[in-house]
Amino acid sequence: MLLDGRQTADLLNEKLKLKVSLLDKKPRLEIILIGDDAASLSYVKGKLQTASKLGMLVNINHLPVDVLETDVINLINKFNHDKDVNGILLQLPIPKKLNSDKLIELIDYKKDVDGFHTMNQGLLFQKKEGIRPATPLGIMMLLEHYNIPIEGKHVVIIGRSQIVGAPLAKMFLDKNATVTITHSRTKNLSYITNQADILVAAIGKPKFVTKDMVKVGAVVIDVGINRVDGKLIGDVDFKHVEPIASYITPVPKGVGPMTICALAHNLYKLYSEQEKIK
Ligand code: NAD
Repeated sequence: MLLDGRQTADLLNEKLKLKVSLLDKKPRLEIILIGDDAASLSYVKGKLQTASKLGMLVNINHLPVDVLETDVINLINKFNHDKDVNGILLQLPIPKKLNSDKLIELIDYKKDVDGFHTMNQGLLFQKKEGIRPATPLGIMMLLEHYNIPIEGKHVVIIGRSQIVGAPLAKMFLDKNATVTITHSRTKNLSYITNQADILVAAIGKPKFVTKDMVKVGAVVIDVGINRVDGKLIGDVDFKHVEPIASYITPVPKGVGPMTICALAHNLYKLYSEQEKIK
């Protein structure tokens, strides 16, 4: 069965839109976009469209590829101190000559809508209230929406990045799953993936997960977004894996829309905390 991220996101966004419509002042997000990376431009557009539909305010601060680090720092500081700004997002990747870790740390963690700041990552790893990275949060929201049981299940995640694999593992652990994280140095990968009740692919290699790597009846979550010949292809060989999976996310219309949905929910959460709304 398909885990329809588009449909689920639309449904959850509708509920959020209603809550936003009741606010006097609208939640406001400032996106900092540096350079002209085509994928980043399209992600930012998606975020802008969704947030606008929900009645939230989004500004895109599009800076040239050769922008000076001090200019980016000044902009972040300006937004940190502007009480009308509820969320700040630095669209990644940024040009190599800039230090993304340093810039993310400069964002006030109470406006860190992406949940990438050390404080928010620390809060997650201490199982405390905080902003969770949008892609892992979106995946958890999707599984919850379809009432897919997690407790006691063996979750295998392929990929250990700070924005997807690592935080997602902790979120599954907190739902009482048994979690295995695999990565580029993992040996006997398919032996491990074949034990997964829930298999997550977050690698960035088109059709990397083939049918022989998946247990019959597994839930398969495809995080990958790969552009091949102008088409978006996931990390899972959907055509051959779909018949043996109990549930599977498509690409596109799977994890992508859920990520943006989670981001909008994060912005609302930041707003509520700043404006002290229950
Ligand atoms: P990343 O490059 O930071 O991490 C990739 C991970 O894959 C690494 O941990 C690496 O160890 C692992 N890996 C690489 N080769 C491997 C191999 N042969 N065997 C096992 N593991 C291997 O990537 P990321 O930022 O985590 O993103 C992963 C994918 O998810 C990308 O395609 C990205 O575009 C996509 N993504 C999608 C969304 C979304 O909203 N749908 C959000 C974030 C990322």
